[in-house]
Amino acid sequence: MSNVYNALSFLTGAASMQGLPEDAGLEVAFAGRSNAGKSSALNTVAGRRALARTSKTPGRTQQINFFVLDERRRLADLPGYGFAKAPLEVQRRWSALVESYLSQRRCLAGLVLLMDSRHPLTALDEQMVHWCVAAGVALHIVLTKSDKLGRGAASQALAHTRRALAPLGDGVGVQLFSATRGDGLDALRSRIDAWLELPARAAAGEAR
Ligand code: GDP
Repeated sequence: MSNVYNALSFLTGAASMQGLPEDAGLEVAFAGRSNAGKSSALNTVAGRRALARTSKTPGRTQQINFFVLDERRRLADLPGYGFAKAPLEVQRRWSALVESYLSQRRCLAGLVLLMDSRHPLTALDEQMVHWCVAAGVALHIVLTKSDKLGRGAASQALAHTRRALAPLGDGVGVQLFSATRGDGLDALRSRIDAWLELPARAAAGEAR
């Protein structure tokens, strides 16, 4: 089965601003607390089992990993945050890299911020939201693992997160997502399509 994101392939990992690919074309970044379900979401979007596995290999965890879609479009997988045991120095390096990336990257069309639907908007998530707002980066919030919540609890998590972010205006999207069930996949892909200026999908729909 094919979808446009099936063509994604690993380009490079960057541990510093100097290592980033050229700031041209369009980029959509993925961020989230470690274990939020970021790799699973990336793999589900791509319709591939192990695209984002690269980011799990030792040494690459503090890097921004880039995946190319075509000559002008990329996805950027930001290093996960919130490791309880990460040394202060590692946390500082993470903050410096991510904040610089968000504030300086001109080709950045938007950030997909993944949060576990069972405990969204932790302090570090709020810091990410704040950085995006300060840098004028468009934001789309994905509440992951929605299959772990009942229908009522899932819609409550959605409503709670929407309410909390309402002061930021209508521009911030919030949705539920399940990598295991595929719930919310079309909504997430549509958001990324729009940011990457991909042509609208054919009315007949595109196979996953
Ligand atoms: P990352 O650290 O943010 O990249 O998170 P991963 O994608 O590696 O997921 C962390 C854990 O949550 C793994 O054990 C996944 O199998 C699990 N997980 C991720 N997405 C889902 C989901 O939609 N549903 C369920 N039930 N588990 C998920």
